[in-house]
Amino acid sequence: SLSGKLDKAFKTLKGQGTITEINVATTAKEIRRALVDADVNYKVAKDVTDKIKDEALGRNVLVSVSPGQLFVKITNEELTRLMGGEKKDINIGGDPAVILISGLQGSGKTTFSGKLARMLKSQGRQVLLTACDIYRPAAIDQLKVLGEQIGVDVYAEPENKNAIEIANNALKHAKATGKKIVIVDTAGRLAVDEQMMQEIESLKNAVKPSETLFVVDSMTGQDAVNTAKTFNDRLDFDGVVLTKLDGDTRGGAALSIRSVVEKPIKFISTGEKMEAIDVFYPDRMANRILGMGDVVSLVEKAQEAFDEEESRKLNKKIRQNKFDFDDFLSQLEQIKKMGNVKDLLGMIPGMGKALKGIDIDDDSFKPIEAIIRSMTLNERANPEIIDGSRRKRIADGSGTSIQQVNNLMKQFSDMRKMMKAMNKMGGGKRAMANLA
Ligand code: GDP
Ligand code: MG
Repeated sequence: SLSGKLDKAFKTLKGQGTITEINVATTAKEIRRALVDADVNYKVAKDVTDKIKDEALGRNVLVSVSPGQLFVKITNEELTRLMGGEKKDINIGGDPAVILISGLQGSGKTTFSGKLARMLKSQGRQVLLTACDIYRPAAIDQLKVLGEQIGVDVYAEPENKNAIEIANNALKHAKATGKKIVIVDTAGRLAVDEQMMQEIESLKNAVKPSETLFVVDSMTGQDAVNTAKTFNDRLDFDGVVLTKLDGDTRGGAALSIRSVVEKPIKFISTGEKMEAIDVFYPDRMANRILGMGDVVSLVEKAQEAFDEEESRKLNKKIRQNKFDFDDFLSQLEQIKKMGNVKDLLGMIPGMGKALKGIDIDDDSFKPIEAIIRSMTLNERANPEIIDGSRRKRIADGSGTSIQQVNNLMKQFSDMRKMMKAMNKMGGGKRAMANLA
């Protein structure tokens, strides 16, 4: 999968303290290969990875994140930018507004027409579906069934073989019945052919849609890009609908189509059910392509919350085996600042392990904080002096039990051991890069 390949690419960077020109180039090359394998057009893939490379080299690696993660973030940003940055809405101005649905047979036009009608209806709009697939009687029935299912009227003339006439009559019908949006479902061929292109072109000229959408099956890979180009040359459509994203595909086509035809993707379709429609968000698709979901936002959160200078000091202390309870406490504060504690613990070496077994939410930190705050400054800096009688005093002072204090002492000592071991292994540098 693309995700697996990108994982491999990012692995190249993992464990490296800084991003150097060499490992950036290697990783960028791996990313390019992975993108091409996922049906991203070669030129597009090359452009993206060139940009990613420049960005990665130009950007300072914050100590709070590993280079690999920063690279993921840069890649994500670049992919998002390439897919248009912001989400783009459809134009539904007009009385009635016409939305023309184009695309090859089997791409998902009829299904999407129903989905879009349902979505617009749920926004309180009056919608009319129009069946302009004049070649397949079954297509009319298909739309009628969907219309009934979602409670939207369907206009059809089963005997009429003139799509333009049907569409014009549908507009009249819409005006007469107070419908504000007319969605025109059209016929498609299995491959692009001249008659079909002419037909949809004249249909467009006749009904003057405020929005022409091109529906494309995301599973068709590189073909999807060629088809998009052909349709765009003739129809100059306004937006793309990517269907069948519920399958194996990782969305490589989204990237290529957007940059080859320079038209925004506006919706994605992720199943056969009428609810399976989503507005297209470039950043979410970038995440999907990267297959790394939350990693990216984690990195962002970490960057916001961690103070660089603090972490530099902390790194030094860890390296000198001087990590103490005050540091522990300030790390807890940092973690809390970042929000979703559970997810973030793994970013700090030893921390996740030290707190293992605790069901981690903000509340479970409270006794730990209370215990540390009940220690004297001397005890915090020199945990080894905390003997039995001190533990009793600390437990009483923090309103916890000796057992709880003992547990924390044990966890803290394990954590220090782990840091020490990492320093010894020479893996300290890696820990530093990961550590805030
Ligand atoms: P049309 O010929 O372009 O009108 O395509 P249809 O809307 O009839 O869809 C063709 C087939 O693809 C049908 O079996 C649909 O149920 C299916 N389909 C459409 N959209 C999706 C989707 O997003 N995911 C999946 N899995 N199937 C879809
Ligand atoms: Mg159809």
